[in-house]
Amino acid sequence: MKAKSGDFVLPGDILGVSEEFLPADWTCDDNGNIKALVIGTVDLDDKNKRISIIPQTDSPAELKKGMDIVGQIMEVRGQRALVKIKGIKDNPRGLVVSFVGGIHVSQAQKGYLAKLTDAFHIGDIVEAKITKTVGIDSIDLNTSYKEHGVVKAMCTRCRHYMKQSGKNEVTCPNCGNKEKRKISINYAV
Ligand SMILES: [Zn+2]
Repeated sequence: MKAKSGDFVLPGDILGVSEEFLPADWTCDDNGNIKALVIGTVDLDDKNKRISIIPQTDSPAELKKGMDIVGQIMEVRGQRALVKIKGIKDNPRGLVVSFVGGIHVSQAQKGYLAKLTDAFHIGDIVEAKITKTVGIDSIDLNTSYKEHGVVKAMCTRCRHYMKQSGKNEVTCPNCGNKEKRKISINYAV
């Protein structure tokens, strides 16, 4: 396939070959083929030999306020935990582009939370609700409901996944370490 400007494309569609064109916005080079990363229309810049996609919406491709997502904690710093969003809950289709969301300390659980590290640590798998999307790099998440929060906790000492041992506590079966979390009722073990 060789795409023309205005063609409607889906993620994974081949738009051209990288010998002829450069991937630009929302496209990538996959083994010599330029592929679409999002749903949208092709914008072919013949002069500069660049292929871009104009996304169908200007908010994150498939992520919308109110959706439940599954993600992994990348960083916990100060007032905000960063989450790499891996997918939409109960939707087997993965996201084509990965997005990063943030959980503010006030949105982590009901009631007061002294520090975010009492709720999350790097490597934890979490389920959360999207409360706001602004552009593609600002997604606010909330885990205060009982069905949201950590579903798999990673031991900060030995990187093993931990077992739930209390309402807000997990224990590592490998090293015996106990840590606090904001645990979802859907905790995996
Ligand atoms: Zn451990």
